[in-house]
Amino acid sequence: MVVVMDIEATEEQVQEVNQRLAEHGFASHLIRGVNRIVIGAVGDRSRMGELGLELLTGVEKVVPIMAPYKLASRDARGGPSLVPVGNAVFGGPEVVVIAGPCAVESEEQMLEAAQKVKEAGAAIMRGGAYKPRTSPYSFQGMEKDGLELLARVGQKTGLPTVSEVMDRESLAQAVEYVDMLQVGTRNMQNFKLLKAVGRTGKPVLLKRGLSATIEEWLMAAEYVMVEGNENVVLCERGIRTFESYTRNTLDLSAIPLVKRLSHLPVIVDPSHATGDRRLVPPMAAAAIAAGADGLLIEVHPDPPKALCDGAQSLNPGQFASLMGTLKAVAEAVGREI
Ligand code: PEP
Ligand code: MN
Repeated sequence: MVVVMDIEATEEQVQEVNQRLAEHGFASHLIRGVNRIVIGAVGDRSRMGELGLELLTGVEKVVPIMAPYKLASRDARGGPSLVPVGNAVFGGPEVVVIAGPCAVESEEQMLEAAQKVKEAGAAIMRGGAYKPRTSPYSFQGMEKDGLELLARVGQKTGLPTVSEVMDRESLAQAVEYVDMLQVGTRNMQNFKLLKAVGRTGKPVLLKRGLSATIEEWLMAAEYVMVEGNENVVLCERGIRTFESYTRNTLDLSAIPLVKRLSHLPVIVDPSHATGDRRLVPPMAAAAIAAGADGLLIEVHPDPPKALCDGAQSLNPGQFASLMGTLKAVAEAVGREI
């Protein structure tokens, strides 16, 4: 951390800061500028709070240098971490594509979607059984029946599955059925849920919160990891901005940035990011070009009849054609699908 002293700070006040740092095991280094004194301090960041430096007379501000997330930080590992889900591995050379409908609606819908996305090269099947809808009057999901269906279709097609959990009750159900647990954008800061998901040890797909900064997102990952579950995959799914022609604004810069800050794999969801199926292919391609470790794409056998998010869903033909393009993009940046 850096302690910036007031312009008018006295020598005694500087000494008091130095003494307090030393008492708490921090090494300090005094920098005398033309106009002010700055103290660089190195020590255990978790003890910064007990120092109470801001309360000392003569201290203008205390600026932390190290990131507050430890386990999620790039420095915590030598290289990128790998998160396996079934036969798919996030974070390696493969770009892992998760595909499937927004919501589980019926056996026929799920089976057709699973077969088609598998044929086209998807590695993981998705389907929401507990849906966090903006309106309480909208379809809320098939809940446990939906999970059962998703698991059955996963088994039939040999695809691992991912589904969203919203609370401890849905989590208790989902752990029995799915291979990966999704924490949605609305629950990114549901800290109790993050801890509970962490205790399961199952791979977690952690979406970025609607208005979350990258630091808040990484701190959410830290909540899962501190419980002993390091299998976290981050998912950029667009953030709230003033723009209204798209559902959200896809923050592509988050991909290379998070990969620099963290060892965790990062994937992109161009479906929820744009809300418009016509924008999904270019954003999916851009995400791979920017270094994404995977994609989450909503695919429905008959999007106009979807009970949820039909406007942003691709039909199986559109998905297959997109996968062709994505393979070429992946190859161009040294990855494979
Ligand atoms: C979803 O994936 O179905 C979903 C609800 O996503 P998000 O949490 O990103 O809105
Ligand atoms: Mn959806």
